[in-house]
Amino acid sequence: MSTAPLVRFAPSPTGFLHIGNARPALLNALFAHRQGGRFLLRLDDTDRERSTEEFASAVSEDLGWLGIEPDLFFRQSDRSALYDAAAERLKDQGRLYPCYETQEELERRRKRQLGRGLPPIYDRAALALSEAERAALEAEGRRPHWRFRLDHRIVAWNDLVRGESHVDSASLSDPVLVRADGSYLYTLPSVVDDAEVGVSHVIRGEDHVTNTGVQVQLFEALGASIPAFGHHNLLTTADGEGLSKRLGHLSLRSLREAGYEPAAVRSLAVLTGSAEAVRPIASLDELAGLVDLAHLSRAPARFDPAELDGMNARLVHEMPFSDVRDRLAALGIPAGDAEAFWLAVRANLGR
Ligand code: GLU
Repeated sequence: MSTAPLVRFAPSPTGFLHIGNARPALLNALFAHRQGGRFLLRLDDTDRERSTEEFASAVSEDLGWLGIEPDLFFRQSDRSALYDAAAERLKDQGRLYPCYETQEELERRRKRQLGRGLPPIYDRAALALSEAERAALEAEGRRPHWRFRLDHRIVAWNDLVRGESHVDSASLSDPVLVRADGSYLYTLPSVVDDAEVGVSHVIRGEDHVTNTGVQVQLFEALGASIPAFGHHNLLTTADGEGLSKRLGHLSLRSLREAGYEPAAVRSLAVLTGSAEAVRPIASLDELAGLVDLAHLSRAPARFDPAELDGMNARLVHEMPFSDVRDRLAALGIPAGDAEAFWLAVRANLGR
């Protein structure tokens, strides 16, 4: 068996990738590059209403523009048999249990708990239902959603970015893994896939730290080996605002259409919030050598989109003729004059 790392980038195709998504994509790809590992592109498209083909094909195209060519590819919508088998296994173990509360009922309970100064976590009322009570609820036409019964304990791991980390499962609600319509939320399919293909390192944003506490228990319940985890700081705008897929002007496609070089976007997306000075790095190889997960900062990675202009200009000013030969030919510049032309104009170009 090979011990080379296998990493993955797992976006939901519910919008265009933006510069904030480029960060985990690149951190994974550069990690694999540096360690002679492989990179899996997985489309987390279990939300059928919000996932589209247009966004799905844009993901591959935008990664290609960044210089990332996945070694493996699949989409979750093709793999539901695996998730069904895992869910059955968890039901057999009594770890996945049916719940019948409506959103309104849960909301009322949450308010009551908060009113009493208690943490608003699910009280496991459904675990106490008898066979007859469940049958009565089903006879009313209610369909269950399914929760994973957490072991109340501390889940600890040595994070590739954050060092010793832990989540206290007792402070969490048992997560819903399967909706009433039988569709899966992200949590279970992600673990099933990571286990099935043998993902060795899960590198993702720190917004997933709590999920890791849950997912480690799922790996264990499914008898799978647990990957290493690294949770990187998130890219935010200069005023600390998170990026969302709705920030259209920072989508990779609009940056490409605006004429930015992929190397400028790459450098900004990974060097911001790292131990390295933010500067344009032309080659992927060199960038891979600079990025060390253990040296990422714990603070949010704030960036100013205006920095892209400076980065891009610096790259273009030093860009060798060989990098632009084809582009100049496409502009109709005669081959004999092209190199002299390029060396004369590049210092005046921004993009
Ligand atoms: N689809 C998930 C997301 O985009 C993937 C998270 C993960 O890397 O596990 O947030």
